[in-house]
Amino acid sequence: MNSAHRLADKVAVITGATSGIGRAAARRFGREGARVVVAGRDERSGSEVVDEIVAGGGEALWVRADVTSAHDMQALIAAAEARFGRVDVLYANAGVLERGTATDTPEEQWQRVIDVNLGGQFRLAKYGIPALERAGGGSMILTASELGLVGARDMVAYCAAKGGVVNMVRALAVDCAPLGIRINALAPGAVQTPMLERWFAEEPEPEAAVTRQVGPIPLGRLGQAEEVAAVAVFLASDEATYVTGSVYLVDGGVTASYGL
Ligand code: NAP
Repeated sequence: MNSAHRLADKVAVITGATSGIGRAAARRFGREGARVVVAGRDERSGSEVVDEIVAGGGEALWVRADVTSAHDMQALIAAAEARFGRVDVLYANAGVLERGTATDTPEEQWQRVIDVNLGGQFRLAKYGIPALERAGGGSMILTASELGLVGARDMVAYCAAKGGVVNMVRALAVDCAPLGIRINALAPGAVQTPMLERWFAEEPEPEAAVTRQVGPIPLGRLGQAEEVAAVAVFLASDEATYVTGSVYLVDGGVTASYGL
């Protein structure tokens, strides 16, 4: 692999790599020389992502893994090490977005949203960090959200989970620094992915909802998955060797602005 590639020869495990930001990151990591373990539940999409990486001259492995299952997450790490011999980068990207205020969110929905968005990232840390240690160090990227830093209507469980990720990253970074492992989080804003498209489609007037969403964004548009993937490449790479415990907003400036 060309050493000019920013992730040359690193082995990266990405959850939720079958769609949206995770899919864009898997492809980009592959182009940057990483050997990519593409994880998710949708086998057809996962195999497509692997084929795309291989067609671009890279190496990739599909592993079906539900982030709510401890068994699946252990098997994911075992499969990565069995195929590639090591793990250098963990990217906890899998997530779900569901609507609800405290009074209308059923308890099962609360549990599900917390379990995927916060528990899933904890599980990748729990079962993946020992693999980074075995590799002599590495980098982990968590996925928060602008909604881990500010509140929004009708999303109490999602906001709680992403807020939890924002502080979990700091605790993990402190624990893992002596092991030579850096832990950071990405906090995307409104990024044009199937998740956001489903959200808009459920609105009574989807086009008006897009206009409302874009209105307060200083850069004046939605983000693209590739723009989040680009920051993930930096955090995974050896260019970020003094970066740990940070939360990187990729939100077009929306949380920097009072919105007036
Ligand atoms: P997306 O297109 O819906 O993709 C979500 C991914 O998560 C899919 O690959 C899905 O894979 C995976 N996933 C969901 N539940 C899973 C489970 N139980 N086990 C394993 N994988 C699971 O969403 P996205 O917009 O790319 O979101 C990616 C991440 O960015 C999420 O954490 C999201 O909260 C965060 N984020 C997104 C935005 C945005 O505006 N798009 C903003 C802030 C933060 P399978 O279907 O194969 O299981």
